[in-house]
Amino acid sequence: MNETGGTSRAWAEIDLGALRENVRVLKERATGAQFMAVVKADGYGHGAIPCARAAVAAGATWLGTATPQEALALRAQPWLPPDVRVLCWLWTPADPWQDAVEAGIDVSVSGMWALDAVTEAARRAEKPARVQLKADTGLGRNGCQPGADWEALVAAARRAEADGVLRVTGLWSHFACADEPGHPSIAAQLTRFREMTAYAEGQGVRPEVRHIANSAATLTLPETHFDLVRPGVAMYGISPSPDLGTSADFGLRPVMRLAASLALVKQVPGGHGVSYGHQYVTPGETTLGLVPVGYGDGVPRHASGTGPVLVDGKWRTVAGRIAMDQFVVDLGGDRPAEGAQAVLFGPGDRGEPTAEDWAQAAGTIAYEIVTRIGPRVPRVHLNES
Ligand SMILES: *Cc1c(COP(=O)(O)O)cnc(C)c1O
Repeated sequence: MNETGGTSRAWAEIDLGALRENVRVLKERATGAQFMAVVKADGYGHGAIPCARAAVAAGATWLGTATPQEALALRAQPWLPPDVRVLCWLWTPADPWQDAVEAGIDVSVSGMWALDAVTEAARRAEKPARVQLKADTGLGRNGCQPGADWEALVAAARRAEADGVLRVTGLWSHFACADEPGHPSIAAQLTRFREMTAYAEGQGVRPEVRHIANSAATLTLPETHFDLVRPGVAMYGISPSPDLGTSADFGLRPVMRLAASLALVKQVPGGHGVSYGHQYVTPGETTLGLVPVGYGDGVPRHASGTGPVLVDGKWRTVAGRIAMDQFVVDLGGDRPAEGAQAVLFGPGDRGEPTAEDWAQAAGTIAYEIVTRIGPRVPRVHLNES
C-alpha cells in the first residue's frame, strides 16, 4: 500500500486533523451548546466512521445520521464511548426499530405512525426507547405539523412516557433558509420552534436537548443554538453557502482533496475533436492530458467544459464532455509526465480549485460535489490522531 491506498488512478485524501480543527472552531461559535457531528451519507463522502471518531476526539458528544443503518454502524464501533449519543432521523415502517432501541439510539419521531412503531419496538425489546420529537416549524419536509397534530403527538408521547415505554430526550426542528441571511422564514421558524417546545414542556416533556441549528445557523445565528448544534457541511470545511462567506472567512479548512494521476499526455493537431460529441475542438496544435476519473466516480457530468483542474501548477478546464471513467484537459503544449497529479479540488491553499469551484462549474452546491464522490475512489485518511 502506498499513501494513496494502493491505487494511483484516483484517490481522496481526508485530512482528519483539519476536521478536528473545524469541530473546535465550530464549538467556539456555540459555547454552551453540545455538538452533534452530522455524519450521514458516509460523512458527506468523507467516510462516516473515521470522521465520527475524529469529531468525538475533538469534543462532539452526539452523532447524527439520516438512516438507521448508518446509526447502527456507528453504535457498533468499539471506540465509541457509551455516553456519546447517536440520533437517527429518517425512518420508514420496515426499518430496524427494535435494533435501534436495543442499541440505545435516539430515534426521531415526526408522526403518530412512528411513535407507534417505536413504542411497539420498545415493548418487544423490553427497554425504554429514546425518542426525539421533531417539529415542522416551516421547512415542509419531515417533522410534525404545529397545532392539533403536535398536540396529539405530544400527548401520546407523554402517555408512553408514563407507561415507562419511552423517554422524550429531545425536541427539535430544521431550518429551510438558514443560509440566506435575513430570510423572513428564519425568524418565523424560530418563533414557531419556541412555541412548539414551550407547548411540549407545558405538557410535562423534559427534553435533554432542544436543537434546530445546522451549519449556517451555527455559524451566523447564535440565537438558534439552544442546547445543541448540528453542523454537517461546515465540519468538513465547506461553507454552507458562498453568499455567507468562504470557508476561510469562517476559519474552516476543507477536509477532502481529490486527485488523479494523468493516464496519458499526447500531442494533437489543431481542429481535433475531444471526447464524446466533440463539444471541444482544439484551437491549434496542443497537448492533451487524460484524467482517469469520470461520472462513474461522482465527478459531475454537468461540469463538462467548465470543471477546473490543477495540473503541473496550472489551472486547466475540462475539455469537452466528462465521460463515465475519464475526461480530458487541454494542456496548451505543456508536457507533464504520465502519472503527474491532476488535483480536482482541495483546501485551495496550494493553488488547487475547491469543491465550491466545482459546484459553480456544475451548477450545484459543494455539499453535492463531495458527497457524490463514489466508492470507486479510495479514501485515504490522514492525521488520524
Ligand atoms: C444534513 C442535516 C444537518 C446538517 O446540515 P448542514 O447544512 O450540512 O450543516 C442537520 N440537521 C439535519 C436534520 C440534517 O438533515
